[in-house]
Amino acid sequence: MDIALVGDKTYPQQWLPLLRERLPQDRFFIYPDLDDPAQVKIALVGSPQAGELDALPNLQLVQCLWMGVDTLLSDRSLPRDVPLARMVDPSMVNAMTEIVLAWVIDFHRSLHQYRQQQAQRRWAYIPQRIASDRTVGILGLGELGRAAAQALNRLGFNVCGWSRTQKSIPGIACHSSRQGLDAVLEQSDVLVCLLPLTPATHGLLSRRVFERMKRGAALISLGRGAQMVTADLLTALDSGQLAYAYLDVFEDEPLPENHFLWTHRQVSITPHIAARTEPRTAINVAVENIDRVRRGERPLYLVDLEAGY
Ligand code: NAP
Repeated sequence: MDIALVGDKTYPQQWLPLLRERLPQDRFFIYPDLDDPAQVKIALVGSPQAGELDALPNLQLVQCLWMGVDTLLSDRSLPRDVPLARMVDPSMVNAMTEIVLAWVIDFHRSLHQYRQQQAQRRWAYIPQRIASDRTVGILGLGELGRAAAQALNRLGFNVCGWSRTQKSIPGIACHSSRQGLDAVLEQSDVLVCLLPLTPATHGLLSRRVFERMKRGAALISLGRGAQMVTADLLTALDSGQLAYAYLDVFEDEPLPENHFLWTHRQVSITPHIAARTEPRTAINVAVENIDRVRRGERPLYLVDLEAGY
C-alpha cells in the first residue's frame, strides 16, 4: 500500500525509519515526492499547507499525527468523505498529565511565589495548604482531561470537570451544560483547560469565565490559544481576580518576541510543549490504523466532523 507523509519538513525524518521498519511491505513517500498520487491510500499528516490534500484523490484514511485537529479541519482540501483519525498515544497522555501535575503543584505549593522571593533573596514562609484544601476544575474530560483529573484525584485534590456530554468518573464531580460550567468555575482554585478548539470553545476563556472564578485562582491553558481572550486575561491578572496563569498555547505561535505576556510577573510560558507527538510510541497507533485500513476495519480515534473534534 502507498502511504504519504504530508506536512512540515522536519517530522518525516523521525517517522520514516520507524514506519519502514514496522511496515516493510508498504511504500512510503514524502509529499510532494510521490510515485503516483492516485495510488496513495493513507495520508499521515502533520501540519499540511492548505490545499495539499487535494493532490491525493483516492485516500481511505487521513491519519493526523497530532491530537488536535482544528487546523486540519479548517483546510478546505480535507476530504470530508474520508475517515479522519487523530493521534491518541498513551505516552502523550502521560506527558500532558505530567504538565498538569507540575503546574497545579507549582501553584498549590506557592513555588511560583518562592521563585520571585529567590530573585529578591527573600527568606519568608507562605502559609502551607494541603491538597484536600484545593479544588481543581478541568474543562474537557476526554483522553487528556480524564487522565489528568484521575491523577490529581489520586494525589488528594478535589477534582471537578466539565464536558459536552455528561460523564461519570469515579472520584470526579462531573458537570455538563452552561450551569455545569459555572459550578466548576465557582469552586475551582485552579482551572485547567483541555478542550479542543471548535466554534463552541473559541474565545471561551474570556471575561465571563474569569469573573465567575474564585478570586485569586489560577488558570492553566493547554488546549488551543484561540480559546483565550488575551485582553480579558490581562484584566483579570492585573485586578487580582486571577492570581496566576500558566500558558502553553497561544493564538499566534510562536508568541511574538515583543508580546507583553513574556514578561508578565503572574504568567509562566511554555512554547506549546505540554504533549508533543513522540514518534517512538505514536508509531504503534499509526501502524494499528494502517493495518486496520488494510483489513477493511474501522480505524481507531476517528474524529466526529460534525462535533469538530
Ligand atoms: P478529546 O478526547 O476529544 O476530549 C475533548 C473533551 O472536551 C471531551 O470531554 C469533550 O466533551 C469536551 N468538549 C468538547 N467540546 C466541548 C464543549 N463545547 N463544551 C464542553 N466540553 C466540550 O480531546 P483530548 O485528546 O483530550 O485533547 C483535547 C485538546 O488538547 C486537543 O483538541 C488539543 O487541542 C489539545 N492538546 C494540546 C496539546 C499541547 O501540547 N498543549 C497536546 C495535545 C492536545 P465530550 O466528552 O462530551 O465529547
